[in-house]
Amino acid sequence: MALVVAFYALGFNQYLNLDYLKEKSAGFAAYYDDNPWQTSLWFFLVYMFSTALSIPGASTFTLVGGAIFGLSWGVVLVSFASTIGASLAFLLSRYVFKDAVQAKFSSKLADINTGIEKEGAFYLFTLRLIVVFPFWLINLLMGLTAIKLRTYFWVSQLGMLPATIVFVNAGTQLAKVDQLSDILSPTIAVSFALLGLFPLMAKSIPGIVHRYQALKAHKKPDSFDYNLVVIGAGSAGLVSSFIAAAVKAKVLLIEKDKMGGDCLNTGCVPSKSLIKSSRFLADLSRSQRYGIKSASAEFDFAEVMERVSSVIQQIEPHDSIERYTELGVECRQAEARIVSPWEVDIDGKKITSQHIIIATGAKPRVPTISGLDKVQFYTSETIWSLRKRPERLLVVGGGPIGCELGQSFSRLGSKVTILDIAERIMLPEDRDAGDLLKGELESEGVELKLNATIESVDVENGQQYCVIKNAAAETEKLEFDALLFAIGRQANTTGLGIETLGIQLTKTGTIEVDKYMRTSVPTIYACGDVAGPYQFTHTAAHYAWYSTVNSLFGDIWRFKADHRVIPRVTFTEPEIASVGYNEESAKAAGIMVEKTCFKLDQLDRAIVDGKTDGFIKVLTVVGKDKILGVTIVGEHAGELLAEFVLAMKHGLGLNKILGTIHAYPTWAEANKYTAGVWKKNHKPDKLLTFLERYHRAKRQ
Ligand SMILES: Cc1cc2nc3c(=O)[nH]c(=O)nc-3n(C[C@H](O)[C@H](O)[C@H](O)COP(=O)(O)OP(=O)(O)OC[C@H]3O[C@@H](n4cnc5c(N)ncnc54)[C@H](O)[C@@H]3O)c2cc1C
Repeated sequence: MALVVAFYALGFNQYLNLDYLKEKSAGFAAYYDDNPWQTSLWFFLVYMFSTALSIPGASTFTLVGGAIFGLSWGVVLVSFASTIGASLAFLLSRYVFKDAVQAKFSSKLADINTGIEKEGAFYLFTLRLIVVFPFWLINLLMGLTAIKLRTYFWVSQLGMLPATIVFVNAGTQLAKVDQLSDILSPTIAVSFALLGLFPLMAKSIPGIVHRYQALKAHKKPDSFDYNLVVIGAGSAGLVSSFIAAAVKAKVLLIEKDKMGGDCLNTGCVPSKSLIKSSRFLADLSRSQRYGIKSASAEFDFAEVMERVSSVIQQIEPHDSIERYTELGVECRQAEARIVSPWEVDIDGKKITSQHIIIATGAKPRVPTISGLDKVQFYTSETIWSLRKRPERLLVVGGGPIGCELGQSFSRLGSKVTILDIAERIMLPEDRDAGDLLKGELESEGVELKLNATIESVDVENGQQYCVIKNAAAETEKLEFDALLFAIGRQANTTGLGIETLGIQLTKTGTIEVDKYMRTSVPTIYACGDVAGPYQFTHTAAHYAWYSTVNSLFGDIWRFKADHRVIPRVTFTEPEIASVGYNEESAKAAGIMVEKTCFKLDQLDRAIVDGKTDGFIKVLTVVGKDKILGVTIVGEHAGELLAEFVLAMKHGLGLNKILGTIHAYPTWAEANKYTAGVWKKNHKPDKLLTFLERYHRAKRQ
């Protein structure tokens, strides 16, 4: 800044005056004839550094380049000097201003950074070609984003080239140029702008063409049996069909297995029922905490598993064919196959629908391991059939499902080992959250084998075992009675007919959907585990709304799916609940955050309940109370999270939570106390010093 001010203060700007340059151009050219390399080098350095320092005048310099060096050599010199100079300005902005700007506008920049990560090169190219955007301003602004230097360099060079050629060419005829605006006629400026917009527009063309072709290849029925056909009656399919029926659409829900899908039959409901029984036993084992010398329970593992089944049965009516039929949904028990953008085959009969929603869910992944065919292994789909407790259970996968089930089986008396390829459990959460759970699991006797891989499984003398490579890269033999895989879930996309329709998949195998939850075939939408990106019951329901409303009313108005404020809870003890950014994801996104922590051992209710392990960690915009993310570890973490989810969704800051009455003594008070910690960290020191003096003066 000082150099720029000095440039003008010392009157150097007169040398960028067009008349002055015209007058001197013959002299420059003569000097160039005698000293070609020195002249080129000096011109290059002056151009590069003036650009790096954002001294306005690039167009005039470019004209001079043309006047002295002619078109070809002038373009080469200007193109490289301007791009290197622009990159230096970009770096200067990145290292001088970026932190301060990120700190101030971190939440807004998060969205911009995501956009730049995906489309940065296109935006920059467009900006470079729309000549009304000042060249030096683009350099400074792009430095504040997350675009990579390499991308910035080549896109800038390419994007600036057309204007460079025009200006250098004009410079070769400098005597005829009366003012800078003569050089770029409105027609040329508009042509450049269109050239700049072309790549951005061209990006969406393949999608449009693909959609058109997807429909063109099939004959559209003259009339339709249904407005909407939903395939899969899990959380996503049930919500989709319910919404469609509620708005009086004619909807058919097709389920090939059990109504309620994974959540009711093999996921949330059975796992949470098992957790309830196992937690009861864990509480008994801690009776001394509550002044009870000893407490024990007699139980039969098979009865606990029967209770799990009975809970499913109690909830079944909520998702039953009877209930949905009453709600106005036509239900069919069959396997569905899509045969055209408007047709679904059920048991050899074609039915037609204006739109189709794929809600076929996901299934547990099973790794390819040598010897797997010799042992009995389980997944979250099959483990519920167990009636005899496995004395030694090996759980492969230390994510939410592995940890929830591993802890439960351990509490029910199995000797549990959790093995994970990563160096820590609960990878998507912050390290401190995972570490607290790890400590609890180990104190309960669960063995953790981290940084380990399973190499093979086998049976010897009736004993099942696996060979693993442990953290020390040594081979180890682990015997087990039951093996459970909890290594993630794979979208159910096969056998649906989507390959023949050309519906595209993502790299992770989920169905690719656009921002409206539409697949690459415009009449077909997808939601829930089959489309991701999250695999929760509440996200399945959330995205089901967008799929249904956009498919039924998309001709009038379409809603972009909202991916913000997605809560996630793992129901281990301690529970881990989070929403928005955590420390690691904020860092990865380049967002500066302020951290506020409250430990649950400071909460009266936690002490009363004897559950003091855990914390609430809130990340806010630096210096502001705007919440960017929350991680809660401890008792009732999932319930406590709800208040923060509401606050984030509706833009309420920590001051609002602090100003809300929370009943005493509740767990929810912990949220208010966390907000209190934030307030204390931002106390108005000057005002308090003044008040201290005021009170002292009043006492005298
Ligand atoms: C152990 C475990 C615990 C979990 N705990 C939680 C939790 O606490 N909280 C949470 O939010 N989430 C939890 N989840 C995740 C949650 O269960 C899923 O995210 C949710 O059920 C996904 O719903 P969906 O409708 O997308 O798929 P699904 O529920 O899998 O439903 C898909 C349905 O489509 C049917 N189908 C497939 N193909 C066809 C076809 N061709 N024709 C007809 N029907 C077909 C299937 O039979 C199935 O019923 C858990 C998952 C597991 C495994």
